[in-house]
Amino acid sequence: MIVAANWKMNPALDQASVLATALASQSFPKIKRILFAPHPYLVPMSVRLTSAGLEIGGQDCHFADHGAFTGDVSAAMLRDCGASLVLLGHSERRAAHGETSEIVAQKTTAAMAQNLDVMLCVGETKAERDDKKAEQVVIDQLQASIPKHAPPNRLIIAYEPVWAIGTGAVASPDDVAAMHNVIASVLAERYGANHAPSILYGGSVNADNAASLFSIPLVGGALVGGASLEAGAFAAICAAAQAANSLRVDL
Ligand code: PEP
Repeated sequence: MIVAANWKMNPALDQASVLATALASQSFPKIKRILFAPHPYLVPMSVRLTSAGLEIGGQDCHFADHGAFTGDVSAAMLRDCGASLVLLGHSERRAAHGETSEIVAQKTTAAMAQNLDVMLCVGETKAERDDKKAEQVVIDQLQASIPKHAPPNRLIIAYEPVWAIGTGAVASPDDVAAMHNVIASVLAERYGANHAPSILYGGSVNADNAASLFSIPLVGGALVGGASLEAGAFAAICAAAQAANSLRVDL
């Protein structure tokens, strides 16, 4: 099980430091914890938290190695600042920065070339779900965003219905299970069932709904936005993941 915090453009540095202290004091040895921190915080967070067992990731990278791209960062820069992975294709970047799946694929190739793992986000809008196009949209995003030669051991998929992000609305267990099945089939076709990457759910995951989401067999963890800014809520989600993990191992 993987639980990843996406701090987005939050919090202020002093609050980030308080959160880091809390994260460092929590111990969840049976799951993987990841923090996608704002780029200016990567160095301090990696210094403070990798020794506490967290993996640190950037929230985006450019597809070029270097050059005249004001405001952007390269995959190598992320790696040199202590990141071991990068979040790509988040719906906020697809919507606000015009990132197409083809651009996401280029960024994925660049990140993997620098030995970064990639958490790649896919998900449909409310209008696409209402139009019964959700599955096709996600299939198309997967096909176009995952480069041909991307090794499965460097890839994690996060299914994030856009309408569930930051809204308090969570996809129903049946819808989550159905979409995770669709994603698993696409990945199995490409990589074989035994090598397929993990699939996380993201979208208003919190301390109250995490256990029920983690009881869905193909849900391999969560990408958490808002609740990752509260140390207690994030710890509760990690505890739910660790409990679900133990249950799966026992089974
Ligand atoms: C996210 O930003 O990826 C996310 C899932 O946010 P939230 O948990 O706040 O819905």
